[in-house]
Amino acid sequence: MKFCSECGAGVTLKIPDGDALYRHVCDHCHTIHYQNPKVIVGCIVEWEDRVLMCKRSIEPRHGLWTLPAGYMENGETTAQGAARETLEEANAVVEIGEIYALYNVPHINQVYVLYRAQLLDLNFGPTSESSEVKLCHEADIPWDHLAFATVRNTLQHYYADRKAGQYQFHVGTIERGVRKGDKPT
Ligand SMILES: [Zn+2]
Repeated sequence: MKFCSECGAGVTLKIPDGDALYRHVCDHCHTIHYQNPKVIVGCIVEWEDRVLMCKRSIEPRHGLWTLPAGYMENGETTAQGAARETLEEANAVVEIGEIYALYNVPHINQVYVLYRAQLLDLNFGPTSESSEVKLCHEADIPWDHLAFATVRNTLQHYYADRKAGQYQFHVGTIERGVRKGDKPT
């Protein structure tokens, strides 16, 4: 950040009085510009014994496979955001079910919230964000071409839970190059 979004003056990176972290502080109107993590919301979309996967046609991780997910918007709930992202990325209409996983990704300042969701019809397909959208059996999941560690962990938990006959809520932290909490619990 170089300029204040309130008044347009320059900002200085400093620790405000009473704070513990560096912030961008306006040199003119003294507004403190806090920066906080972003929430990413998405779905495991189920149709019978298959799951909907999307091949990314945008960066980052262009050409790799993901679950439909994206940045939560102001004015919506996490469930609404997950359904909206699924429509935008896969042209798929879903009914949101149970919350399934929460991942902290502190090194990139993100929090993932993933729901299980029921696909309501088969009118899904490619979009401007996904070059290919398909329903996969477990054996068809492109495990070697997944876009994100969060997606890999979620799918690993999902199939382990399904074999165990009970879905559980999973919480984990994904660190740079290391994955904590990625064993099914
Ligand atoms: Zn200002």
